[in-house]
Amino acid sequence: MPINILFAALPKRWTEYEAPLRAALDKHGLDYILETDLPPQDVDYIVYAPNSAVQDFTPYTRLKAVLNIWAGVEAIVGNPTLKVPLTRMVDSEGLTRGMVEWVTGHVLRHHLGMDRHIVNPDHDWDPAIPPLAPERPVAILGFGALGQACARSLQGLGFAVCGWSRSAKAIEGLTCDHGQDGLKRVLTHAGIVVLLLPDTPETENTLNAQTLSWLPKGAFVINPGRGPLIDDDALIAALDRGQIAHATLDVFRTEPLPKGHPFWSHPKITVTPHIAADTRPASAAQVLAENIRRSEADEALLYTVDRSAGY
Ligand code: NAP
Repeated sequence: MPINILFAALPKRWTEYEAPLRAALDKHGLDYILETDLPPQDVDYIVYAPNSAVQDFTPYTRLKAVLNIWAGVEAIVGNPTLKVPLTRMVDSEGLTRGMVEWVTGHVLRHHLGMDRHIVNPDHDWDPAIPPLAPERPVAILGFGALGQACARSLQGLGFAVCGWSRSAKAIEGLTCDHGQDGLKRVLTHAGIVVLLLPDTPETENTLNAQTLSWLPKGAFVINPGRGPLIDDDALIAALDRGQIAHATLDVFRTEPLPKGHPFWSHPKITVTPHIAADTRPASAAQVLAENIRRSEADEALLYTVDRSAGY
């Protein structure tokens, strides 16, 4: 009997995903039906985006797993109708590469002080030389798939990187800390802080008035994680008094960021429209097909979400 796979995401995603997903499933020799509309009681797997029309999983009585095409799961992880395993997107060839490029680029922008040469209306000849990377400690809050990949890239350029996570970990070649005491230790030394935490009740306002004050004066904040990780008012206050030199923000509590939001016009804030790392269908399809293959072979799924932890 064929495996029934429902693709539940916005219609434009179907046009991007259908061909690569079929090719990846074919590569594994799987017998399957892949559609955007199937009788719920027949569905074995849902390839899923949390902004799809499927929000109630109750009618999917023989569902084996939901495979999220996004890395972030905050919009589905608490869904009480979801009773089967949930996986999230970890894709070293696509999503992770995108995040590494975006983070590395924005770290270098601030580290090198590029802005003062790009926008220089008074034609100032300012030969100030920036410090070298080893003199610019970078803190990465959230040291999972994306945080570690960014750390390796930045470390390769010579930055002194320290990660921060929920649990203690030993990762070859990388330095990291954990827990609330660890957060203070990590921030106290950071010239640049990058947020790559998931959005959970525990991570909300990780950067707040107090934790922002732990950063050295003139530090830079880069947030490609999720909007709620930062207390917006505390950030603006820290920018206005010079505690933070600049914040580059890709994610917001409300998206799209509403026109007229103070972030748009703040001279020390750069807004990017949640583009740090999109899922890339060609490589993401390989990850999705591999998980369906694994499940059908009774092997453990990759990248399963810990529903109790919220990520
Ligand atoms: P991940 O592998 O699950 O890593 C999450 C990290 O956060 C882990 O190191 C985890 O600690 C840590 N963490 C979680 N709760 C914590 C807490 N309360 N205190 C301290 N550390 C905590 O996730 P990922 O794949 O790296 O993705 C991270 C986030 O990036 C996603 O959740 C998503 O929100 C965001 N993202 C944004 C974009 C974009 O385009 N802007 C694209 C993709 C992803 P442990 O290691 O101890 O578990």
